Amino acid sequence: MSNDPAAELPFYYGSISRSEAEQHLKLAGMADGLFLLRQCIRSLGGYVLSVVWNLEFHHYSIEKKLNGTYCIAGGKSHCGPAELCEFYSKDPDGLVCMLRKPCLRLPDTPIRPGVFDSLRENMLREYVKQTWNLEGEAMEQAIISQAPQLEKLIATTAHEKMPWYHGKIARQEGERRLYSGVQPDGKFLVRDREESGTFALSMIYGKTVYHYRILQDKSGKCFMPEGTKFDTIWQLVEYLKMKPDGLVTVLGEACVNGKVAEKTPSLPATRRTGANGYTPPPRAVAAASNPATTVPADREVLPMDSSAFNPYHNPNEVRKFNIQRTQLLIDEVELGSGNFGCVKKGVLKTDSGQIDVAVKVLKNDNEKLVKEEMMREAEIMHQLSNPFIVRMLGLCKAENLMLVMEMASAGPLNKFLSTNKDNVTVENIVNLMHQVSMGMKYLEEKNFVHRDLAARNVLLVNQQFAKISDFGLSKALGADDNYYKARTAGKWPLKWYAPECINFHKFSSKSDVWSFGITMWEAFSYGGKPYKKMKGPEVMRFIEGGSRMECPAACPEQMYTLMKECWTYKHEERPDFKAVEESMRSYHYSVSKKAKPEGSAAAAAEPVE
Ligand code: ADP
Ligand code: MG
Repeated sequence: MSNDPAAELPFYYGSISRSEAEQHLKLAGMADGLFLLRQCIRSLGGYVLSVVWNLEFHHYSIEKKLNGTYCIAGGKSHCGPAELCEFYSKDPDGLVCMLRKPCLRLPDTPIRPGVFDSLRENMLREYVKQTWNLEGEAMEQAIISQAPQLEKLIATTAHEKMPWYHGKIARQEGERRLYSGVQPDGKFLVRDREESGTFALSMIYGKTVYHYRILQDKSGKCFMPEGTKFDTIWQLVEYLKMKPDGLVTVLGEACVNGKVAEKTPSLPATRRTGANGYTPPPRAVAAASNPATTVPADREVLPMDSSAFNPYHNPNEVRKFNIQRTQLLIDEVELGSGNFGCVKKGVLKTDSGQIDVAVKVLKNDNEKLVKEEMMREAEIMHQLSNPFIVRMLGLCKAENLMLVMEMASAGPLNKFLSTNKDNVTVENIVNLMHQVSMGMKYLEEKNFVHRDLAARNVLLVNQQFAKISDFGLSKALGADDNYYKARTAGKWPLKWYAPECINFHKFSSKSDVWSFGITMWEAFSYGGKPYKKMKGPEVMRFIEGGSRMECPAACPEQMYTLMKECWTYKHEERPDFKAVEESMRSYHYSVSKKAKPEGSAAAAAEPVE
């Protein structure tokens, strides 16, 4: 598991059995104090410490307590498995001996993932697939960009997709369902208890149905009385399939809820976006088409809730290069304007419905150069397909030349942040900038340089969903080139440009990384203007002199460190987007995990019903 705090330890083996642990210790020589750490299958998040003393094996369970600390029964609490092992290597404190020599994992022995690690991963995929109708690359991107948010979501709603989950039914109805058909021992279902909003487990054993109340503590963890605590009901169910943990027997086959099994809710391929570009979360749709699904508590909107997310929906339908004028309704509302003309709001009619679009209308299209410029922009956009890049839907040649794009109705990032300072958290900005790094990593892989990455060219679909736009200056690099050489300098956004762009007219993905750093600075200063009142040439002197912008007030230290790395003078030493995305991702995951509310004390255990 990627977030297993023991994953870094060279003497940690993951989910291996007791006898396998003993085998490793034997092979390593059975010296006194030889030890290793493994995952505990009984308690989620717990470990077992296996130690050799006097040619014998001793196994100590390490429990993860609700407050997130670890301890061996009767011993002191420690903040992590590493700290715990370090402590016992100085003081036996009740163990048979001190930990003396780590039994190191050999290079050909990877950490074995536990049953829940792979289950959780599969569950996440299944959930994304079912809920948003995503597949392939779009699904991978969705998972990478929103893993922490999805894990939280799954923790509370995953059971709704399980065949054994029957929703809110009476105890008697549960019995009726279990008694119908074959009645093998262990056949079970989970239902909502009518009055209290908690869950109950009903299972058949010796032709009799038994009911158990599933308890939940304040932090939402589920457990049987005095049993192991789990983050989710489905993990508890998986565990009870292996260990009875107080039940009359282990769980066997699921008593299948016909409603869930016959049709899992999926969404139509194209959904009409609301007036403000916001598509209601899919739960509303799911609840309507499947009364057995309960509506989960309100949550933040995710990128995947938007109809704009999936770049692979109806690719042939939508990615027409030439759009008929009759298919296009253009609003008078202007979204933005520039030298070329203006961007207007519109609606594109397709066979499978209507899509909100943004239409870039060329003003002077009798000018050949301007026209060619827009054709080049369209040519570039046509080759790109990524959730974090504004998708072009086509060109329409009518009264004007028009570039039709998917709509990002919440507008440019800098404007959005400066007008919504109070409602946007730092985590929110981290999430958005991580998405931008994913889009840029994609461009880098495809060998395109953007050349105008800035907060004004990052558009928002909604508060949680960013897309890179404005490919007016972009270039596709040749297969053997890693930079583009501009013959003459143009009207350039100097404050966003790396030294090699200004000095040698050389543009590469590495110079886009520099611009990404400036964009980060703009984002973390809530749409502030970089380099204040300085003019282009002053900025150049400032940079050449080794100075860099200061850390914005609300910006986390780690994010400022990354910005400064993006502003490495020599492009050879600057990180690429692969590295930038990795840093953004790990920081995004770490802050989103911390934001998860954790109750401290367990609720008093209730008796079994
Ligand atoms: P320019 O080359 O003049 O910067 P842009 O492509 O950045 O042109 O578009 C100008 C403005 O139009 C943007 O700042 C934004 O406000 C609006 N705009 C452009 N594309 C879209 C879109 N896909 N969705 C919503 N608004 C857009
Ligand atoms: Mg622009």
